[in-house]
Amino acid sequence: GSFADEDYDELYKVVLIGDSGVGKSNLLSQFSKNEFSHDFKSTIGVDFSNRNIEVDGKIIKAKIWDTAGQERYRGLTSAYYQGTVGALIVYDITRKVTFENVERWLRELREHMEQTIVVMLIGNKADLGHSRAVPTDEAKAFSKRENMFFMETSALEALNVEKAFTELLSQIYRGMN
Ligand code: GDP
Ligand code: MG
Repeated sequence: GSFADEDYDELYKVVLIGDSGVGKSNLLSQFSKNEFSHDFKSTIGVDFSNRNIEVDGKIIKAKIWDTAGQERYRGLTSAYYQGTVGALIVYDITRKVTFENVERWLRELREHMEQTIVVMLIGNKADLGHSRAVPTDEAKAFSKRENMFFMETSALEALNVEKAFTELLSQIYRGMN
């Protein structure tokens, strides 16, 4: 359904992390605006989008932070992680190195967190199955070992995008209530 933007029960900050080019910004624009862009824009600074969803009859307002390109040059700052209750770590199923770097992102995330938070591993660009470089089973096994939820998505085809964000937010809500 749709809700007045300021009418919500819970407000959760969620961050998107992962290598440059894996599709973080497009996952966010697909989830918050139903939009996809073929251009590779990397603007400077940090950006975020809001969207309200319903979980167990409550309205959850998600404030989702996107890196806006600085992940390419430097690490993300503490301010980026401040107050985070959930994270989506994204890799590109066609680029193995982006999957290998998930470990690094996970370490950086855990260094900034005082408590355990809900983390979902996302294998994006699932529409490019013909150039797959990361087997689903391998990613699934890894996510299990590291206590992450796991989903393959396509921001291009809007496949599992809604599902991934909704699952993450539901798990956050249920962990707190
Ligand atoms: P970011 O650097 O992680 O924010 O990645 P972007 O969202 O900017 O996407 C990088 C490039 O990958 C852009 O050219 C997008 O159009 C493309 N892209 C993003 N998601 C997908 C997807 O699910 N499938 C395909 N085929 N391309 C995608
Ligand atoms: Mg981006």
